[in-house]
Amino acid sequence: MKKRTFLNLLSGAIASPILAPLSAWMSNQKLTNWSGNLVYGTDRVTEAASVDQIRALLRAENKVKVLGTRHCFNSIADSRYHLLSLKPMHEVVSLDAAARTVTIEPGVTYGQLCPYLDAHGFALHNLASLPHISVAGACTTATHGSGEKNGNLATAVSGLEMMTAAGDLVKLSRQSDGDAFRGAVVGLGALGVITRITLDLQPTYQMRQYVYENLPFAQMREHFDAIESSGYSVSLFTDWQKGRINEVWIKSRVGDRQPFASASAPAEFFGAKLATRNLHPIADLSAVNCTEQMGVPGPWYERLPHFRMGFTPSAGQELQSEYFVPRNNAVDAILAVERLRDRISPHLLITEIRTIAADDLWMSTAFERPSVTIHFTWKPDWPAVRSVLPLIERELGPFAPRPHWGKLFTMSPADLRSRYEKLPDFIRLARQYDPQGKFRNDFLDTNIFAS
Ligand SMILES: Cc1cc2nc3c(=O)[nH]c(=O)nc-3n(C[C@H](O)[C@H](O)[C@H](O)COP(=O)(O)OP(=O)(O)OC[C@H]3O[C@@H](n4cnc5c(N)ncnc54)[C@H](O)[C@@H]3O)c2cc1C
Repeated sequence: MKKRTFLNLLSGAIASPILAPLSAWMSNQKLTNWSGNLVYGTDRVTEAASVDQIRALLRAENKVKVLGTRHCFNSIADSRYHLLSLKPMHEVVSLDAAARTVTIEPGVTYGQLCPYLDAHGFALHNLASLPHISVAGACTTATHGSGEKNGNLATAVSGLEMMTAAGDLVKLSRQSDGDAFRGAVVGLGALGVITRITLDLQPTYQMRQYVYENLPFAQMREHFDAIESSGYSVSLFTDWQKGRINEVWIKSRVGDRQPFASASAPAEFFGAKLATRNLHPIADLSAVNCTEQMGVPGPWYERLPHFRMGFTPSAGQELQSEYFVPRNNAVDAILAVERLRDRISPHLLITEIRTIAADDLWMSTAFERPSVTIHFTWKPDWPAVRSVLPLIERELGPFAPRPHWGKLFTMSPADLRSRYEKLPDFIRLARQYDPQGKFRNDFLDTNIFAS
C-alpha cells in the first residue's frame, strides 16, 4: 500500500516562504567544499524549500549550479554566478511498500534516509564509504560502493523529477522513458534541478564486516577473483609499500551462503591475518570513526559504509582521485599503478580498490563495463598530487580509465570524452532541457561541452 509520509528527516529546518540567502555563508567566511581544497567561485547562495522557489530562482538568474553536500573534490559543483542549496527539501515524499520504492526530496542524505528505511523494513542495495552525502549529488556523479554484483548508487534510481531551465517539471522513469532516463540519471548536474528521486528498495538485512591485515600482493595477483567474490562488498586498502594489501575489508549479508556471513571467520585469508580489533583504513587513525567490524552483526547501513554518520569520514584533511578500469584488466591495472609506488607513496594516505557491476546509464563510470576502481586518498598537497596524476593516468592509459566525476584528475577533455560513447546523445539531451546552458559551469564546458 502506498504510504504518504512526508517525514521531516531533519528536525528544526523550516521551509521559508521566500527565497533565503544562505545565512551560514553570509559571514566573511569563504564558501568551500567539504575538503576545503576548493573555494567556490561565488558566495551568492540561495536556499530553496519548494519547487516554486526553485522556479523563481531559475527565472531570475542566467546561471545556476545546485549544491549537494559539497563532497566533490573538483569543480563540478562550482559556479562563478549563483549556487542553489536544496538542504531544506529533506523529506521522504512516499514509501511504496508494495512496489518497494521510496521517493525523496533532493536535500536528503543517505545518513538521514537509511535509518528511516530500516525502521520501515527496507534497505538499499549498496552505499558509498560515507553516509554524509546527498542522494541527488551522489547519483548524479555515479557514486559507488563495492561488490562484483552491485551497480553504483545511481542504479537504484527508478524515477526522477527534474526542473528544466525553463522552469518546467519533467518526470522520467526507468519503466517508461528509456533513453532519456538512462541519459538523465547520471546527469552531472547538467540537465536540470533534481526535485525528487525514486529509489528501488529491498527488504532490510543485517551484515557482518571482517577485516584482514597484510595480504601479500602475490596472493592478490593470483587470487583476485576469489578475493573479490568472498563477500557482498570487498575493499582492498594499500599504501603500495612492502608488496602487500594493508587491509582487506569483507562485508557480507547475514544469511548469505558466503564464508564471511557467519559468526566466526578463519584466522587466515590468502596469507592475511584476521584483525583482532577494529581498524581505520589509514592505520594511524582511530577506528572510532569507522563502522563496526570483527563480525559483529548490524544493520546494512551501519556496515556498508566504512565511516559512521556523526563522525569525520576518511581523514578530513585530504584530496581524492579515482579511476575506473575494465574488471578483466583489474590485476594488470593494479600492477601498473604499483610500478609507480615510490612516486605515489610520499603523497598518499591510502589507496582503496573496489569492484562495481556494469550498468546502462550513459555517463556512468561503469557504463557497459564491469569495473574495478583504483582510488587514492591523498595528503592535501595539490601541487604534488597534480604532478603524480598524469603518471598514473599514463600507466592506466592502455585500460581506457574513466575518472570519478567528483574527484581530481588531469586527463585531457578529449581523452575523457573518448571514454563515453553516449556523450553526443548526452549533449543533445542536455541541450533539450537547458538550451542556453543555465546549468553549465566551467567544469562542464571544459570536459563535456567543448568539442
Ligand atoms: C570523505 C569522502 C568519501 C567519499 N567516498 C566515496 C565513495 O565511497 N564512493 C564514491 O563513488 N564517491 C565517494 N566520494 C565522492 C562523493 O560521493 C561525490 O563527490 C558525491 O557527488 C558527493 O555528493 P554531494 O551531494 O556532496 O555532491 P556536490 O559536490 O554537492 O555536488 C555534486 C554534483 O551534483 C550536482 N547536484 C547535487 N544536487 C543536485 C540536484 N538536486 N539537482 C541537480 N544536480 C545536483 C551538483 O550540481 C554537482 O554537479 C567521497 C567523498 C568524500 C569527501
